[in-house]
Amino acid sequence: MMQIRKSTRQIHIGNVAVGGGAPVSVQSMTKTDTRDIKSTVAQIKELTKAGCEIIRLGVPDAEAAAALKDIKRQSPIPVVADIHFDYRLAITAVESGVDALRINPGNIGAPERVKAVVEAARSRQIPIRIGVNAGSLPRDLDPALPLAERMIEAAMREVRALESFEFDLIKVSLKAFDVPATVAAYRKISRLIDYPLHLGITEAGVPRTGVIRSAVGLGVLLTDGIGDTIRVSLSAHPREEVFAGYEILKSLNLRQRGPVLVSCPGCSRSEVDITVLAESVSQALTGIDKTIKVAVMGCAVNGPGEAADADVGIACGRGQGILFRKGEKVGSVAESDFLKVLLKEIQSL
Ligand code: SF4
Repeated sequence: MMQIRKSTRQIHIGNVAVGGGAPVSVQSMTKTDTRDIKSTVAQIKELTKAGCEIIRLGVPDAEAAAALKDIKRQSPIPVVADIHFDYRLAITAVESGVDALRINPGNIGAPERVKAVVEAARSRQIPIRIGVNAGSLPRDLDPALPLAERMIEAAMREVRALESFEFDLIKVSLKAFDVPATVAAYRKISRLIDYPLHLGITEAGVPRTGVIRSAVGLGVLLTDGIGDTIRVSLSAHPREEVFAGYEILKSLNLRQRGPVLVSCPGCSRSEVDITVLAESVSQALTGIDKTIKVAVMGCAVNGPGEAADADVGIACGRGQGILFRKGEKVGSVAESDFLKVLLKEIQSL
């Protein structure tokens, strides 16, 4: 099914187009100490290899801000500086060559300080992301209002603050742990503004639960055509965030990256331990860049039919299995060779 994306303005974070019909981009955030340039650059390079397209760095103090110049120079992907409270750090970040800022004007302070940050961003034509977070909303918002309404009000204040300086290189996020509130907030704000939206479910948790929480929230919004760039926030190494981000986009046919593994759950018809075989194939596919669909099915009765569109697959039987391509049988394989033959087929595709 062709998905209709909500039309937003296009901005550029370095060389990555965001909004305006550009592919939904995958972001992550470094978990190193930004002051440690070597470790931060190493992590950015690792994430780039994993497919990360935009990287955000926390900038907690002047030493971290001073490190940005070197980090930016060595980063293969655009860098976003994440700054709270201290407008001078934001200005240093802009002067260091970063590709975007994440600030909230409301916590930067007096209008002249916000203006100084905006003028710095304008001088280099770099965007500012307004990142509203449910955990740090302005205290004067009516607590009786639903969370989504409070988040929207907070975001609109920040948008108006930037617009008051005639600055429109804006991206907005409204993140909460609560999925229904996050979905409601993004749905409503997407009707109020046409700036590109960065999606995320914040503090989503450990991968086992956080990936599901993120996939549910982001999946609903992306299916609505809402969202121009995403980050999956996990209590895990950021490469897991990038992997999960692509899996969400691949599930919705919004992006392609690397192999897709179709494996059946197994049932009383399974004639091999499908869990072990599927896990082995999944591990073996790590690092393969080809955009292919691979199927591992537990029986020859339903297997080929259920994975008919796979580029290559095995329907396992006791002692031997059927190798198939696009649902057509192309050979038989001994059980001891399932993994080896499947990988050989993948290499030859
Ligand atoms: Fe069961 Fe076969 Fe379907 Fe796997 S493919 S779930 S073994 S019927």
